[in-house]
Amino acid sequence: MKIVETQNVPITTDVLCDVCGTSTTKPGTPAQFGVLSAHWGYGSQHDGERYEVHLCEGCFFSTLSGLGRQRMVEHLFDEESDQAIKPDAPFGLVEHDNYFKD
Ligand SMILES: [Zn+2]
Repeated sequence: MKIVETQNVPITTDVLCDVCGTSTTKPGTPAQFGVLSAHWGYGSQHDGERYEVHLCEGCFFSTLSGLGRQRMVEHLFDEESDQAIKPDAPFGLVEHDNYFKD
């Protein structure tokens, strides 16, 4: 036997970009956003701190571009090796053509 009762459950109806403040939701589609997150632990300077920054598509790729430029500068004078940074590889891209997030 099921015992049913109605409860109020909070649901996320939109996610606003933490940088520019725009909505990441378009009518009829779920929110599309990126998340920059960290939970620092023992041994780090920020032990016990947890960060979560929601980014719209534009701010996500702007942030990614900035990090890519920083990576390029950091490795500007590295010697060639098997683990060398490949400047033509899309920075951070781990998969493409996955339209269903599975
Ligand atoms: Zn934004």
